[in-house]
Amino acid sequence: MRKIGFSILICLFFLMSSFQRLEPKSFKLKTIVIDAGHGGKDPGCNGFGSKEKDIALDVALKLGEFIKQNMSDVKIIYTRKSDVFIELHERAAIANRNNADLFISIHVNSGPSGLYGTETFCMGLHKSEQNLEIAKRENSSILMEHDHTKKYDGFDPKSPQSYILFSLYQSAFMANSTKLAAKIEQEFEDTNKRHSRGVKQAGFLVLWKTSMPSVLVETGFLTDTTDANYLKKEKGRIDTAWGIYTAIEDYKRDMEDEE
Ligand SMILES: [Zn+2]
Repeated sequence: MRKIGFSILICLFFLMSSFQRLEPKSFKLKTIVIDAGHGGKDPGCNGFGSKEKDIALDVALKLGEFIKQNMSDVKIIYTRKSDVFIELHERAAIANRNNADLFISIHVNSGPSGLYGTETFCMGLHKSEQNLEIAKRENSSILMEHDHTKKYDGFDPKSPQSYILFSLYQSAFMANSTKLAAKIEQEFEDTNKRHSRGVKQAGFLVLWKTSMPSVLVETGFLTDTTDANYLKKEKGRIDTAWGIYTAIEDYKRDMEDEE
């Protein structure tokens, strides 16, 4: 009798665990890390009297405000909320420690005259010299970090050879990062009427260390008069933040419906 009772218990146990397996595991986008590029002693690029670090911070704070107002179920974490220097590896670590579902790094571009518009990067190997140049400039922030050779295993942000490392890069988050990047660029083009230079890949150290879908948004060229004027105006920064917000909203809906 005891044996039968025991068998029934075992059967019940297996039945329960198979029910658990059948239950759909629904994805919820719960935490977003917003990373304003540069800060403190690292101004980023400059142009027409503006600094990248200030524009990036303002767009980041505006984006966070839009998320707060419209997505009550999403927690926002900023890597910085003021003009302070945060090391690149720490920015990624903040996202990893908080089990973020998305990492969005906001920057402003710099380049030779004639280049203008927005572009959103995912982690990967650059496919053009121009993309490599942008990654080199953005990664050079680590040269202002104490002990950077140790922290980044001797990675030299200015040497093209260092970037060979990224040819082996593979990530489970690539598809979703690209999906979000495409939505951001689409919003910039359709709603903000900006010139979108598209979705690109390059070896950005800040994206490399994150373990969730992550993108780096270049919101325009500070070296271009039209882009610089757009980003210098409050309205330009509001529209930029709103464009990113709308893309996130769309991405969230897609991801949560998919499961
Ligand atoms: Zn930057």
